[in-house]
Formats: sequence, C-alpha cells, structure tokens
Amino acid sequence: MTDPRIKNIVIVGGGTAGWMAAAAFAKVLGPTYSIRLVESEEIGTVGVGESTVPHLKLFNDLLGIHDTEFMKNTQGTFKLGIQFNDWGRVGDSYIHGFGTIGHDVSLLPFHQFWIKAMQKGMASDIGAYSIHTLAAPRGKFMTSATDVPSSSPLADIAYSYQFDATLYAKFLRGYAEKRGVRRTEGKIAQTVLRPDDGFVEAVVLESGERIEGELFIDCSGFRGLLIEQALHTGYIDFTHWLPCDRALAVACEKVEPPTPYTRSSARLAGWQWRIPLQHRTGNGYVYSSAHVSDDEAAATLLKHLDGKPMGDPRPLRFTTGVRKKSWNKNVVALGLASGFLEPLESTSIYMIQSGIARLLNLFPQRDFSEVVIDRYNAQAKFEYEHIRDFLILHYHATERNDTPFWNQCRTMSIPAQLQDNIRLFRDSGRFFRDAEEMFATTSWVQVMLGQHIVPRGYHPLVDQMPDQELARFMASVSQVVASCVDAMPSHQAFIDRHCVAPSMAV
Ligand SMILES: Cc1cc2nc3c(=O)[nH]c(=O)nc-3n(C[C@H](O)[C@H](O)[C@H](O)COP(=O)(O)OP(=O)(O)OC[C@H]3O[C@@H](n4cnc5c(N)ncnc54)[C@H](O)[C@@H]3O)c2cc1C
Repeated sequence: MTDPRIKNIVIVGGGTAGWMAAAAFAKVLGPTYSIRLVESEEIGTVGVGESTVPHLKLFNDLLGIHDTEFMKNTQGTFKLGIQFNDWGRVGDSYIHGFGTIGHDVSLLPFHQFWIKAMQKGMASDIGAYSIHTLAAPRGKFMTSATDVPSSSPLADIAYSYQFDATLYAKFLRGYAEKRGVRRTEGKIAQTVLRPDDGFVEAVVLESGERIEGELFIDCSGFRGLLIEQALHTGYIDFTHWLPCDRALAVACEKVEPPTPYTRSSARLAGWQWRIPLQHRTGNGYVYSSAHVSDDEAAATLLKHLDGKPMGDPRPLRFTTGVRKKSWNKNVVALGLASGFLEPLESTSIYMIQSGIARLLNLFPQRDFSEVVIDRYNAQAKFEYEHIRDFLILHYHATERNDTPFWNQCRTMSIPAQLQDNIRLFRDSGRFFRDAEEMFATTSWVQVMLGQHIVPRGYHPLVDQMPDQELARFMASVSQVVASCVDAMPSHQAFIDRHCVAPSMAV
C-alpha cells in the first residue's frame, strides 16, 4: 500500500516567509521530512518588513530562540506599540500600545470606567493608564519582571521586535540549514503541472535542474510564482478601502537612542513609517499614486528623515488584497505571495506566522482532502478581512479634510461590520472581539479613541461605583502605572545590557 504521508516539501522563495516556513517545518516536522528551499539571489527579496507584533515571541519560543540571541543577530530593538501622528487631526499624537489598559473590574473593561471619569473631568488621557503607552514616549523599556507581585503592571509587559529584515532571513536560514533544510540557489524558469489534476509536480530551474515535491509552499513574493502564475488562483482587491498602492523605502543614519516604538506619521497622501534599529533607522512612505507623484513622495520622505539617508529611496508597488485561495491544490502561499495588507499595524510577518501554524495544524496527507483545504482558506480569509477592517478604521476615522486623499478616506463606504463596530462604540464604548480575530479589544479602543470616536455613554453597571470611588480608582491606577514607568530602565540601557550585536560590543 502506498504511504499516505507527505514526505517532500518544496519551499519556493527565501525571503522572510520562505525562511520562517523552513525554520518552523524543520523544528516541528523533524528529519523524516525532506525540506528544500529554492531562492534566487539575482531576484533578491523585498528587503522591508522590520516592525512586528507581540505574537512573534511565540514563534521564537517555538523555535527555542531566546530574545538575547535574536536581538544580537538581527540588530533588533524592542517595541511597546505604534505612535500615530496626525491621523485623526493634524497635530494629533496617540500611541496604540500593546498589552492591557488599567485593570478591569469584574466583567467590565477598564475603559468603561474611564469614559465616565472623563465625562466628569476626573480622568486624564487613556494613555496615562497603560504602562506601554506611558513608557514608550519616555524611551523606557524592560521585559516582564519576575520579582514583583503578579498584579503589578511590571509583571505583564507585552512587547514585540523591530529588526533588520535581511539579517532576520539570514539568521533563520542558519537555523533551518542546521536542522537539515536543503537550500538550492537558482531561478525557477518553469512550473510543471500534473496533466490529470493540475497539481504542481515540479519546478525547473534555469540550470535545467528539476525539483519535485508533494507539497509546495509558495513564498515567491508579490509575483506568486506558483499560486498565481501557474495555478491562476485569482485575487480579491481591497484598493477601494485601502487606496495606497506604492511605497518608497530608505534607511537613514541613527541620530539618537532607538525609541521602543514604531512611528506612523500621516502625510498628505498616505503615511510614513519610522522603525529604529540598533545600527540604523528604517523609513518609508506608503502612498496613493492617484494622489501624489513618485517625485513628490520621495521629497516628502527625505524631508522627514531624522538622519542622513543611506541610499536612494527604493520603490515598491503593490495592490492591497488577498488571493481567492491561499491554499490551492498542493500549493500553500505564504507571505506576499498570499496577499498584502499595508504595514500600518505591522501585521504581515504575523500573518506568515499564523499561516505556518494553520498549515501545521491542518497538515495534509497525500490525498489533499478538500475539507482540510477549505478550512485553511476560510480561516485565512477571516484573518485577512478582520485585519483589513482594523486598518480601514485608521483611514476612515479622521476629521482631516486638507487633501483629496483624506477626503476620499473620510467619506468612503466601509465594510458593514466595521460600520457596526464604530456605531456601537460611539453609542456606549462597547466593543466585541470577533472569535479569534487578531486584534484585541484594547487595540480597537485605543485607535477609536485616538482618532476621536468618542463614546456618548458607557455601560450602565459603571454607575454602581460611587463617583468618589471612581475618582480614587482612576488616580490610583495612573499613580501605579507612573511609578512603574519611573522604575523602568531606558530602552538603550536595556539593549546595552542584554542585546548588543557582536560587531558593536566593546
Ligand atoms: C513597503 C512595505 C513595508 C513592509 N513593512 C512591514 C512591516 O513593518 N512589518 C511586517 O510584518 N511586514 C511588513 N511588510 C511585509 C513584509 O515585507 C513581508 O511580509 C515579508 O518580507 C515577506 O516577504 P516574502 O518572503 O513573502 O517575499 P520576498 O521577500 O519578496 O521573497 C521572495 C523570494 O522568492 C524568490 N523568488 C521569486 N521568484 C523566484 C524565481 N523565479 N526563482 C527562484 N526564486 C524566486 C526571491 O528570490 C525571494 O527569495 C512590508 C511590505 C512592504 C511592501
């Protein structure tokens, strides 16, 4: 009887997606599987993707990679959240911090009490009640303390990483090759399909070498070599809601200690990112080509760098959206090959990670059961659409009317579920996280408040707390948070102590 198990996996592409997949498969599937990765140095990688969300720590934990090793090898810094400037109104600034805000009281989230306290003039900005949002602009950072009571904000610090994308892929390559992944350098010239069912049988390199497999992971970037060019899967376009279609990326010299947060500053026709690393600062302008020329975008980007540019801005073009199926026949697309949501909330690398986890959970047999494939695709669609809606919120919830771009974003029609979420929050500050959607209630709340969606009311149970007690509650939470932040070391001091890259160490 033929063995039903899949044994040969071919990964096409050696960017972040390809090497994340290779590392995870090598670790989880082990040496009985043959894992080959094909990449072309001549084609290269997209070379961006340097800011992440806290989930990446789980990926590192799975691989057994400790923060110190990780940060040293990727010139990494820590991230407590994203600072959004000029989004709701020109001159605004708020932080979407990771982790909790204040502390919840029985069933009610902290922000419900905050809404009433704010209405009565007894509260400060919501950012004063979270260790993440208070520590980030003060340049403070530490990982969770183990020698404090579990109720202390210092015991629960959620963070993610900012790192050099090229060094990350190199680091994972070393990890994967050590565990048996075989890398082949070369350009794929042809994809061979099985005549009977159209499954991919092999890829053929320009050199003539033919690489056969049972399961193919398409990590070939925007071109979608297998999922689109060979299988013609189709693409769902989100441009109506997310009109930016180009980016210019440039690194600049570092001029100050790295901030423990990524910055996103709204511009006239898009937004600019700033990602501080140990050795340089990454920057880019994501913009709508219908609203600004490439030259103007480049000038805007360069004008707002805080150090000397380390090269010319590199252009990137994209169409925001997702493949109709991320998994088609025996091809699973990961990374840019599966779709693209702009990096406003640093979600792409997370989606690679969750695609890998989903695939490992739904790992197929050689018969490629349709039930398994359908479930994978349904979950991928759910994830894309919910993150898409969170991104749309940033563009739509604006009072800006200073350019045609912002007028379009403010007045565009939005997906029904997002509309309902905004309406409910405006009514009484309530928000419901939908099943396993990625962003938690605190994320939605911070962005909605940060962009002036002010609730008219609050949950009726809040009134059970007398006003005097409410005032004391608010004051005590902000005092505890502030004193915790006072006690934290600076981000730079923490890096110096734990994470300096080998070449930079004295
Ligand atoms: C402007 C911008 C900013 C971004 N910022 C962030 C961010 O801050 N955070 C985040 O999480 N994500 C971000 N992303 C997304 C992130 O960059 C990607 O998710 C990540 O880099 C994965 O890319 P990839 O591996 O899918 O593709 P790529 O890096 O493009 O790799 C494709 C690979 O396929 C190979 N290949 C292609 N064709 C062939 C062929 N014919 N033969 C052989 N090999 C081939 C290439 O050589 C390469 O190795 C950003 C993306 C863009 C465009």
